[in-house]
Amino acid sequence: MAERLAVSKFEVNGQAIMAVVAAMSITQNRALKMLAAQGIAPLEKERWYPMDKFLVVFEAIGKEIGPNTIKAVGRKIPENAIFPPNIQAIEDGFRSVDMAYRMNHRGTGSIGGYRYSQVGPRTAQMLCDNPYPCSLDEGLLEALGERFRPVDSLWVRVEHQPGSCRKSGAASCTFNLSW
Ligand SMILES: [Zn+2]
Repeated sequence: MAERLAVSKFEVNGQAIMAVVAAMSITQNRALKMLAAQGIAPLEKERWYPMDKFLVVFEAIGKEIGPNTIKAVGRKIPENAIFPPNIQAIEDGFRSVDMAYRMNHRGTGSIGGYRYSQVGPRTAQMLCDNPYPCSLDEGLLEALGERFRPVDSLWVRVEHQPGSCRKSGAASCTFNLSW
């Protein structure tokens, strides 16, 4: 059995939530209403909000607006969220996701994360066992790949490994990365 994540003991930083709202472009008002319905209001940069409520909002976005919106939100996160500075190499870009995740959440217990492992010189895997939706991570990894793509690479491929997926109740999703 997968370890149960201590979501109810965690909080999300207001700035991270604002990054999500900013990414929803034309539906920002709707996003703010959905957040308010879960008690995440008023939204302030320096405040912390219950993570379980934030996850309920993601579930609602997926159901009412669609999974493509979740992926689009994921793609915008690297633009809107704070990442460690001075990152050049793509490996460090992917590694920084877990650090950024920990900077924007606080609490006690296990909350999963983004576990990067290098497979070959230009291949790696990212195991995502955080409680966010699969589509969000897919969009996030794609955008990071574009941002940190080495000049001598034509593309950065992000492929969901078949099998285990959080959409079907698994504890984690693994993405194969190559460039
Ligand atoms: Zn998945």
